[in-house]
Amino acid sequence: MVYTLALTVAVFPALLFILTNGDIMTKFGMEIVEEISDERNMGDGVWLYFKPGYIWQREVHQIHEDTLAKCKAQFKYVTVCTCEQCVARQIKR
Ligand SMILES: [Zn+2]
Repeated sequence: MVYTLALTVAVFPALLFILTNGDIMTKFGMEIVEEISDERNMGDGVWLYFKPGYIWQREVHQIHEDTLAKCKAQFKYVTVCTCEQCVARQIKR
């Protein structure tokens, strides 16, 4: 009984992490992107600006790459963001 409880406590956060990460992966694509700025014709690649609540590498609220395919490859580094800026923007909606 104690063992079961200990196992549950140990496994649950890992499971939760996988589930929430999986959630982001299913959102992979346009659901987390608010705006795309294709500046390839100006030699400045592609910019994907996120909807409030998401961040790339815990640094910036967008992805910037040479191509859309490269942008998509960066989605695995996108996590949920609860910074002041995101929260304020979410409330405004
Ligand atoms: Zn944020």
